Amino acid sequence: MRIVVCVKQVPDTTEVKIDPVKNTLIRDGVPSIVNPFDECAVEAALRFREEHGGRVTALSMGPPQAETALRKCLAMGADAAVLISDRAFAGADTLATSFALARAVQKIGADLIFCGKMAIDGDTAQVGPGIAEHLSLTQVTNVQKIKEAHADHLLVERVCDGGYELVRAKTPALLAVEKAVGEPRYPSVRGSVLAQQAEITKWSAADIEAPEEKIGLNGSPTQVMQIFTPETQLHSEMLQAPNEDALCDILIDKLRQAEIL
Ligand SMILES: Cc1cc2nc3c(=O)[nH]c(=O)nc-3n(C[C@H](O)[C@H](O)[C@H](O)COP(=O)(O)OP(=O)(O)OC[C@H]3O[C@@H](n4cnc5c(N)ncnc54)[C@H](O)[C@@H]3O)c2cc1C
Repeated sequence: MRIVVCVKQVPDTTEVKIDPVKNTLIRDGVPSIVNPFDECAVEAALRFREEHGGRVTALSMGPPQAETALRKCLAMGADAAVLISDRAFAGADTLATSFALARAVQKIGADLIFCGKMAIDGDTAQVGPGIAEHLSLTQVTNVQKIKEAHADHLLVERVCDGGYELVRAKTPALLAVEKAVGEPRYPSVRGSVLAQQAEITKWSAADIEAPEEKIGLNGSPTQVMQIFTPETQLHSEMLQAPNEDALCDILIDKLRQAEIL
């Protein structure tokens, strides 16, 4: 079984600041981490390999420093890592990002692809489904458990409102996972040492034969108009009335005045 896990290096969002002029995240000086959902995706991939055999390749698109995120995946136990990195990818929206990743997945070859549910910086949850669409693959989002694996399909639990759905997914498939899929393991000391010495495959846009009109800014129909931190204003008011009905009337009036109702 050829397993690919898509991993994004993200800024530690507790410290992220926004450039109000360029409408971009200020990444300089902000520590980078592996997207937490992607660590769970790596864990899910490793557990799948342990149970059913196979080879796990971690894949990332990003600047050269995204190599650090891939080394963490290798330290956790991934067999190989691929970084697609090229100036031509700059300015990519989720469509162009998923296109480039899909091309890389195709080049690696995959029977099963794991993604995180979403990235904690971009937060769109579009890249996983985008990859599946580009490759015309089955996709299941919000996966919390792989219950059974068969030759041509998987049985997976998918979180939904108030419970979960049991989904039969024809393979090859892409699974976008929730944190519930598995607590990421700590890399062993030996794993960490080997990961530091490991070779990471690096591919450019040309290596994955990505046409320039499909990648980076050229392949990105989305325009960010504005990015900002919403102002939070906390007002509290204690409502008082002789009984519950009167209290409800006062509350409804207040909500109408605030144009919420
Ligand atoms: C107009 C526009 C311009 C942009 N320009 C830039 C830019 O110049 N530089 C920049 O860094 N970002 C840029 N972005 C943001 C970039 O498009 C997103 O970070 C990227 O597409 C991932 O989207 P997301 O963060 O919402 O991921 P999600 O869709 O929430 O991620 C879901 C899952 O997909 C996988 N995944 C997502 N991204 C990657 C990745 N890069 N590598 C491997 N796996 C991944 C992970 O498994 C992740 O858990 C831009 C966005 C827009 C809309």
